[in-house]
Amino acid sequence: MKDCIFCKIIQGDIPCIKVYENDRVFAFMDINPVADGHTLIIPKAHAENIFEIPADDLAAIHVASKRIADGIRKALNTTGIACLQLNGKGVNQIVMHYHLHLIPRRPGSPELPMTKWELVSGNMTRIKEIGEKIASAVK
Ligand SMILES: [Zn+2]
Repeated sequence: MKDCIFCKIIQGDIPCIKVYENDRVFAFMDINPVADGHTLIIPKAHAENIFEIPADDLAAIHVASKRIADGIRKALNTTGIACLQLNGKGVNQIVMHYHLHLIPRRPGSPELPMTKWELVSGNMTRIKEIGEKIASAVK
């Protein structure tokens, strides 16, 4: 897509630090890292988010994520890796080209903000109601 920054990265019009590529996916270092080793995996074919991406590209990204996560763990001796993926402006997706974040945490480094939240018991009636609504909408 013409004005998409990630499409420009794939085409080589914008430089990046590439860590992996195959026929469907491209992975590179995030230049605004949440933590050392923050890597992005994107489909080569432009798709805005989970609602648009074809299943084959989605599968290819997640298969590649294992390969890259293994590499990150080996290279950085991580204590864990968060896989984070945002869909839509309502959850602060900034670049509108599907991307999966791999965000490692290393020994002694601060807690990742997106992996730490307070557990609060929900209202079971509401959870059941919403779960049934979603289940009936899943095709
Ligand atoms: Zn794009």
